[in-house]
Amino acid sequence: MSRILINNIDWLITMDPDRRIIKNGAIAIDDDRIAAIGTTKDVGANFSAEKIIDATGKLAIPGLIDTHVHSTQQLGRGLADGCDIAVHLLQRLYGYESEVMVDDAYWAALCCQLEMIRAGTTCFIDPGSYFPEQTAKATGVSGMRGIVARTAVDVHQTSIGALPEKMFRETRQEAVEKAEKVVRELNGLHDGRVRAWFSLRVLVACSDELIRDVKAKADELGVGIVMHACESRDEVVASRVQYGMQDVERMAHLGAIGPNMVLIHMGWASPKELVLCMRHDLKISCSPSCGYRLAFGSMEFGRFPEMLELGVTVSLGSDGAMSSNYLDIVREMFLASGGAKAQRLDPSIMPPETVLEMATIHGAKAALWFDEIGSLEKGKKADIAMFETRKPEWRPILNPLSNLVYASRGGADTVVCNGCVLLENGVIQTFDEASALQEAQVRGSRIANSSDLMKKAQPKWPVIE
Ligand SMILES: [Zn+2]
Repeated sequence: MSRILINNIDWLITMDPDRRIIKNGAIAIDDDRIAAIGTTKDVGANFSAEKIIDATGKLAIPGLIDTHVHSTQQLGRGLADGCDIAVHLLQRLYGYESEVMVDDAYWAALCCQLEMIRAGTTCFIDPGSYFPEQTAKATGVSGMRGIVARTAVDVHQTSIGALPEKMFRETRQEAVEKAEKVVRELNGLHDGRVRAWFSLRVLVACSDELIRDVKAKADELGVGIVMHACESRDEVVASRVQYGMQDVERMAHLGAIGPNMVLIHMGWASPKELVLCMRHDLKISCSPSCGYRLAFGSMEFGRFPEMLELGVTVSLGSDGAMSSNYLDIVREMFLASGGAKAQRLDPSIMPPETVLEMATIHGAKAALWFDEIGSLEKGKKADIAMFETRKPEWRPILNPLSNLVYASRGGADTVVCNGCVLLENGVIQTFDEASALQEAQVRGSRIANSSDLMKKAQPKWPVIE
């Protein structure tokens, strides 16, 4: 790490408390933090840098924060198209995951992070896998910032169906012990870029005792818990049948609820549960693309504008290569904005400013990391995404936020995380991209064959070789 000066930034979107937008801006980076931020004239004259990045033609924003991304599922892209939640989860997703070996998990995580870096994402929350060590290892290599967790579930038969035999059948005690070991061993790795939390992967598959145990452990160790909650009609019906209430109500009933919890999806949260979210400062990860592709109805039935109105933290997540099939928070911003507008027949709802706050400020709050990331301010970590604006879809630039959300095709040009340059002028700086892509192809094909899902992923039309 070193002293870097980024100057001549056409549009610098700070997301600071005053939401300042600086024209011809500059950011001075000393080691991993922002030493100064302002105009090129003011900052550039007073900072001696070892490396200067000329950001002429670029727009800079805080690195985007993806609060829902399944690293390990990256090699299963295309294996879970067009199926309902029971088939998606129990046959496709868990069928794939049960064939993933340790090395596969590493390359899956690295390729996942490659896709995120190229999208301008610098921080992620992985909602749980059986290979958090490999996700942490890949994070060490890629240079990103992220939260990893080990999946915990202990109810093997729900009204949605039965969990596969392989890997997933653990007792409550085993699940808690293994998850705690991960938190103790991985939290704070790689200069603090990796944090480790607990994961209650799917609440309907977690016993009351497991939820209570994990909440107590997370509080004891001072870390967060991430979970899927109120995600689809089938899932809330299953929760009502099994436990007599929906997910958030159930956690409140158990007394296992608090501000260190990130709830993913939440499109089916009831009005009563919205109030619980507000009262207990729960954090939400809205994942519009997954809601659309899996027909969860998240944006059609979700009450995300009301959550924001109540002051609830609502961040954005892309989900993963087997659920939404892409990992791009710029597209998620468009879908969150457009989905809410379509639902309410109101084009003024969820403007670009709101969804950019969700992708940065709210993401940082959800990650329990807002003291260091989520905005570009002196003293905060240097996590920055820059987009090239000398393209037809960006012109003219009158309101750059409108162009970013409504017009751009996403795809960052230069990305800095923790003061290190991960992507510069479109070239990955921290690892060999071509090798990672090759590994993804070979390993993804092997898993598709060994899990017997290859035939589910073939084109419907004849392929001529
Ligand atoms: Zn998920």
